[in-house]
Amino acid sequence: MRIQQLPAEVAARIAAGEVIERPASVVKELLENAVDAGSRRIDVEVEQGGTDLVRVVDDGCGILPADLPLAFASHATSKLTTADDLFRVMTLGFRGEALASIGGVAQVRLQSRCPDEIAGAEINCDGGKLSAPRTWSGAAGTRVEVAHLFYNTPVRRKFLRTVATEMGHVCESFTRLALAHGGLNLKLRHNGKEVWEVPGVATLLDRIGLFFGSELRDRLYDVDVSRGPATLKGFIADPSCDRGNAKLQYMFVNRRWVRDRSLGHALQEAYRGLLMTGRYAIAFLFLELPPDQVDVNVHPTKAEVRFRDGHALYHLLLTAVRDRLRAANLTARLRITPTADGFVAAPPTDRGSPALEMLTGPAVALQSPRPGPACDAGPTNAVHETAGSAQPASTRSSPKVIQLHDSYLVLETPEGLLVIDQHALHERILFEQLKTRLRAGSLDVQRMLIPEPVNFPPEHAARALAQRAALEELGLGVEDFGGGTLLLTGYPAILGNRPPHDILRAVVDYLVARDRLPTREQLLNDILSLMACHAAVRAGDRLSTEAIDALLAQRDLVTDSHHCPHGRPTSLFLSRHDLDRQFRRL
Ligand code: ADP
Ligand code: MG
Repeated sequence: MRIQQLPAEVAARIAAGEVIERPASVVKELLENAVDAGSRRIDVEVEQGGTDLVRVVDDGCGILPADLPLAFASHATSKLTTADDLFRVMTLGFRGEALASIGGVAQVRLQSRCPDEIAGAEINCDGGKLSAPRTWSGAAGTRVEVAHLFYNTPVRRKFLRTVATEMGHVCESFTRLALAHGGLNLKLRHNGKEVWEVPGVATLLDRIGLFFGSELRDRLYDVDVSRGPATLKGFIADPSCDRGNAKLQYMFVNRRWVRDRSLGHALQEAYRGLLMTGRYAIAFLFLELPPDQVDVNVHPTKAEVRFRDGHALYHLLLTAVRDRLRAANLTARLRITPTADGFVAAPPTDRGSPALEMLTGPAVALQSPRPGPACDAGPTNAVHETAGSAQPASTRSSPKVIQLHDSYLVLETPEGLLVIDQHALHERILFEQLKTRLRAGSLDVQRMLIPEPVNFPPEHAARALAQRAALEELGLGVEDFGGGTLLLTGYPAILGNRPPHDILRAVVDYLVARDRLPTREQLLNDILSLMACHAAVRAGDRLSTEAIDALLAQRDLVTDSHHCPHGRPTSLFLSRHDLDRQFRRL
């Protein structure tokens, strides 16, 4: 289609705003134009993080010489004509704004030749001033060079960051486009050096491996579901690959990268219980929808979109990811790494999770079953002040399970051995039981004959009283005694003989620690998890054979026996194969 100026009434309906913020925005816009032009190969070259030069060369459909000046006109596009087209957008661009904006703040040269034409043309746009077009007959496709961004707006140039930071943003723009568009040969060079080369044959998995490393690539689960006209495909990472921010949550809608709070929330929700607080899942998810189901014309850089039925999509993502995580076997794998003086158990992630670190002691005991000071060394000491040394299996009547340090259960399985954190597992079991009973309205409450007074600072007591209904629902009865004293009138029977005021204190601490009140669902969930933590057996509790058997039997009944409600693993697996390999039997 030819480029034409949009009629004023269409132009007026286009979301306006600053499109060009930094070199990465230029890279994004030029890459998108090259994709819209049907290119198979796109080469990007930048100098000094793109502040000196961005050059994008493609082999797409090109621009007719007569259209060249229009390409730099505001609201001139070949991608839509009427306002209704805004609801049928299949291209990445449609506003006819990008080249005009870039041409206004840089020195741009555009050279282009359509494959069927012998001659093409070139034009310069220097701070908004267009040169006369000249004949140019280079390779078919389009070449755009953007030099000295913001040279004529010194204030904006001052806002640019270091070359490394700007280059980081350029890489991010490139990565987003490359993840979404398979089949393209893409290259990125910086100051003459190759940064990435993505072959057209690279699968999505290959591309994820290229950008984020093979370690992450090897810990992904595929997702592929559809509901009605919507499909969701892509990969989610094992919870052990989590991050401290949400940057590696890549979401695409109709192959356009978007940032969407609601979808991000659905993703985190799906990982709930598998990640520690403050940690974020990694995902690469592609949502495909009929174009009339999504409005892409709500944000200047189109980074945000509006869905016609956001609720259904939230649900689709939540259930797809949750089901996929359930289907995966999430028992953390214990990796044994040889060291100079033996083998040391290493957590499967670079982040040391507390439960994994605790394993250092027992794992050492595994390779040398002699009880002795070596077994008590390491970070386990604080937790195991009262713990004894490893107990030989023969002293237990249950032949396949031993309790180590009164904290861990070691269990033979057909494929190897499992080390279970008794507290984390029991906590998870109680949490699920409490949840089921709460839903069924059958949470057992122990009423106190004489209410127990518990003292708090008055504002803390007020926090608890404000949530009285929710606490009641959870079996915690509280009355106001005045002056910061609460009367505890009942508590969940599941707490057994643990002092009930402890749980009230933990709940009040929880409420006080939050600036904003969590949603009701979150509140119930969190308090249930606190209760489960209080009622569960502790590290250091010696368990009877019967108690161990009961714990293991219940393990099979819970939905997620792999993680405690705070997201720590409940068990680690060491395969027979690993043992054989480490002892050089294989
Ligand atoms: P939009 O992409 O929203 O249409 P742009 O300002 O980015 O607006 O581009 C204006 C027009 O210039 C496009 O509609 C397209 O016709 C043409 N154009 C820009 N870049 C290319 C390219 N690399 N190959 C072919 N045509 C291009
Ligand atoms: Mg464009």
